[in-house]
Amino acid sequence: MHFDIFSLFPSMFRGPLEESILKRAQERGYVSIAVHNIRDYATDKHHITDDAPYGGGGGMVMKPEPIFAAVETVLAGETGVPIILLTPQGRLFTQAVARELAGYRRIALICGHYEGVDERVGQYLATDEISIGDYVLTGGELAAMVIVDAVTRLLPGVLGDPGAVLEDSHADGLLEGPHYTRPAVFRGWAVPEILLSGNHAAIARWRREQALLRTLQRRPDLLAKANLTPQDRQFLAKFEPS
Ligand code: SAM
Repeated sequence: MHFDIFSLFPSMFRGPLEESILKRAQERGYVSIAVHNIRDYATDKHHITDDAPYGGGGGMVMKPEPIFAAVETVLAGETGVPIILLTPQGRLFTQAVARELAGYRRIALICGHYEGVDERVGQYLATDEISIGDYVLTGGELAAMVIVDAVTRLLPGVLGDPGAVLEDSHADGLLEGPHYTRPAVFRGWAVPEILLSGNHAAIARWRREQALLRTLQRRPDLLAKANLTPQDRQFLAKFEPS
């Protein structure tokens, strides 16, 4: 998988993409990330990339020409690459969208800044618009990092345990249950006994029930869409108000 990120602030990506699992994924060739400075594609003497909004109002708007030039130059000859504009007005980024994006071999991400991006970028250049949540960031850089991170960990081989992503929260519509590690008793708080039992079938059932319970308690809205077995429903029925 290759990510092309288009930004006015490429140095923001130093650090977050160069640590831990993302660093290893790049070193091992599962993923490559190129950050392109939109300013390099501005052709005027001062490399201007933003201007005042037509019709007045505060803030500056990113100009379309350098963004079109950057994306068209970098993706020249490529077809089928999703060109994603990061915007709080886009479709919401979820685990399902991360899985969808993990199916591509190359993805382009355009980061806006200031008041946003000239509307013609969304209309005539981007093929998709994505928001990472119902709040407004100062720029699309953090949103791009969130997408790169969530998509990369889904790529085969990136995580040591390939089964881990299947049990993560949101993987199958539920939140994941609690995790514990040594010591078995910490400040008098003991790890649930079943986890020490060595009974793998019982542990798997307990984990499923904890996931169901946690989802019921914290995100009951998710249960309506989750893939539940008759056994799951029977378990949840115990917690229904009588
Ligand atoms: N004026 C714009 C609006 O109200 O829709 C918001 C502009 S925001 C200050 C600047 C840039 O940050 C956006 O162009 C976008 O690239 C990025 N951004 C802000 N919030 C975001 C979000 N929730 N998801 C993805 N990108 C976001």
